[in-house]
Amino acid sequence: MPAVSVEDVLVLPRIPTPDPAVARPRPVRSVTTAPRGLEGEGFPVRRAFAGVSSADLDPFIHMDQMGEVDYAPGEPKGTPWHPHRGFETVTYIIDGTFDHQDSNGGGGRITNGDTQWMTAGAGILHIEAPPPELVASGGLFHGIQLWVNLPAASKWNPPRYQDIRGNQAALVTTADGGALLRVIAGELAGHVGPGITFTPVTLVHATLSPGAAIELPWRPSFNALAYVLAGRGSVGAERRPVHVGQLAVYGPGEVVSLAAAGNQDGPSTDFEVLLLGGQPIREPVVHYGPFVMNTREEIIQAMEDYQAGRLGSIPASAMPHRREGDVDLAGPHSPAS
Ligand code: MN
Repeated sequence: MPAVSVEDVLVLPRIPTPDPAVARPRPVRSVTTAPRGLEGEGFPVRRAFAGVSSADLDPFIHMDQMGEVDYAPGEPKGTPWHPHRGFETVTYIIDGTFDHQDSNGGGGRITNGDTQWMTAGAGILHIEAPPPELVASGGLFHGIQLWVNLPAASKWNPPRYQDIRGNQAALVTTADGGALLRVIAGELAGHVGPGITFTPVTLVHATLSPGAAIELPWRPSFNALAYVLAGRGSVGAERRPVHVGQLAVYGPGEVVSLAAAGNQDGPSTDFEVLLLGGQPIREPVVHYGPFVMNTREEIIQAMEDYQAGRLGSIPASAMPHRREGDVDLAGPHSPAS
């Protein structure tokens, strides 16, 4: 897994083990298995949040694990140009490369461990696609796309683009050095990641060595989710078993715990988990296709605004792509779950 790694985790700052006398462990509320689907022009995904109530996910809306897939030459796929309004998209590439462009002048190439954080706000068009040389060669592709909601007061903000390089993530470990923790956004025990968000969130990619167990302080006001990217292990003090493609939702408390199985029998030698938490927005959510708003009327308005070109237009310098009219609003990022 080429996402940012270190030779020796013991040189990293260590997060103190939470004091059990004052910090309650968060119980595991549910474990769900992500169904497989196809996104964009047909790349394989797992719908990480399927079957989980929006109240438990708040402020997160949707998450796809893209791959892991080992493409043959000619196979790598991306998305067509498509619109968004009302939230933020976060693309984290663990293996492989994606090129991104948007109608606001944002974009760039992200690869192994990089993140792009796009605030759609009032409206934007964008495209994400593997570079032509990767299409030609094929190869490993693995990443995450996460949607973070915006509160009503921020849904009409101008769009924004953050290019976060893998080496900007705050790297920390636990008291016994059993895990590498990459803080991409928010903070973990005072270690602050580079991503800037409207809604306070914490986003951490954790790699646990076989047999390692970790306990992390977690802001009590945040929700807490753990999605298994690879390997197997357990979640919570109750050590509930989980494996690749499963999402655990934690209940209230101050500590999130995880443990890696002693024997990782899959292609991954480690237990890889994406930890997510955020301040719930607690506003009505109406999600249709690429739009996340507060009311049905605002969804209709978004569709009309998109058709009228008010969410932006494809720039003259656009990378090669298919015709925009092929985009089916209920297709890419359709709220299948
Ligand atoms: Mn998109």
